[in-house]
Amino acid sequence: MRWDRATIAGVSAIPEHGGDRFASSTATLLRAALRHGPLSRRALSRLVGMSGAAVTRHTAVLLEIGLLQEKQSELHGRAGRPHVPLAVNPQACSVIGIHLAHEFGTIAVADLCGQIIDQRRIPYQGTDPAAIVDAVAAKAAEWVRPSTRAVGVATGGWVDVDAGSLVAHPSLGWQSVPLRDLVARHIPLPVYVDNHTRGLMHAEELFGDVDPDESVLYLFVGNVVDAAVRTGRAVHRGPRSGAGAIAHLPVGDPDIGCASGHRGCFEATVSDQAWAHRVAATSFWDLLAAAKAGDATARALFVERARIVGRAAALLFDLVNPDLLIVAELGAADIPECLDAIRTEVGERSVVCSAPERSVRAGGVPTSHILGSSAASVALAEVYSDPLGALADAASHRLGRN
Ligand SMILES: [Zn+2]
Repeated sequence: MRWDRATIAGVSAIPEHGGDRFASSTATLLRAALRHGPLSRRALSRLVGMSGAAVTRHTAVLLEIGLLQEKQSELHGRAGRPHVPLAVNPQACSVIGIHLAHEFGTIAVADLCGQIIDQRRIPYQGTDPAAIVDAVAAKAAEWVRPSTRAVGVATGGWVDVDAGSLVAHPSLGWQSVPLRDLVARHIPLPVYVDNHTRGLMHAEELFGDVDPDESVLYLFVGNVVDAAVRTGRAVHRGPRSGAGAIAHLPVGDPDIGCASGHRGCFEATVSDQAWAHRVAATSFWDLLAAAKAGDATARALFVERARIVGRAAALLFDLVNPDLLIVAELGAADIPECLDAIRTEVGERSVVCSAPERSVRAGGVPTSHILGSSAASVALAEVYSDPLGALADAASHRLGRN
């Protein structure tokens, strides 16, 4: 089946009027099936508070366009059609994620359930940001399949979602890079861009165990540091999507200067490579390997960094007062003492966090996929917010109408 707007508008169950409400209801049902499926129509109806007739009408469309599929039921033969469980069809749609890090880009393909099917690192050539993004996008174009519906581009720093551009990535030294246009030149599909920590927030909420009604503060610590905040079922971005810039929080070592001329900044103190070179005169990856192999000195250095991360986390916790604080940091992912250290700092310094062992946890996205997953989730969040619109947009782009 082809997915231009006319085809989707022609699906018999879509009303001519009230399209926004229809889009919102199909999105709600698809997300419920993703999170709780396989589920019968009757169970879906109870779960989302929609009438049985409305669930039947909306799921008919999602089945017709393939995003939902009927699963074999143990109730088969005994029950009628309302009992046939429905689940998201992971193969119905895939997206490409492009993550831009220090030194390399990551291209990933993810299915509709957020599983990374394939990923690859592309080392950067040269130093011109536009040329680097152009080269990575050209490689990504080779990965477009018939099922590919969208591209997500993610990176650290300040990413303006509406403008589709990277405003500034201070530690890379990039400014005003038109990410969306550079990628769209190579790939005739909708291209969505965002900060990678907001991408990870989407991944946790869509494919992890974050309750959609919970407020969440997400803290990312790598070669950059960023934060994302989710309240009221939405990720907060603010004007020009500038929210989450925490690089210059003065919680770091006062002896360390940052590129902006301050002292004691968070990112300058804890960012992966700079920190490893300073504390151990080695690469971050060698220090992490030593810590994971049980080297006591390396582990102690990771715990020391985690305490600084915990200081920033406590401060941000009191600002947001979230139900949940998620920390994505390679120490916290692999070394239990690091997460303990972050929880201890939050417990001691935060005024409002009463149970850090419950409300502070490590990121749920596997570290081997974290960069590709952040980028793919930027695109998948768009698909799940308006499934029919996203498929129609993909078809329009392929036909050259955008
Ligand atoms: Zn600074």
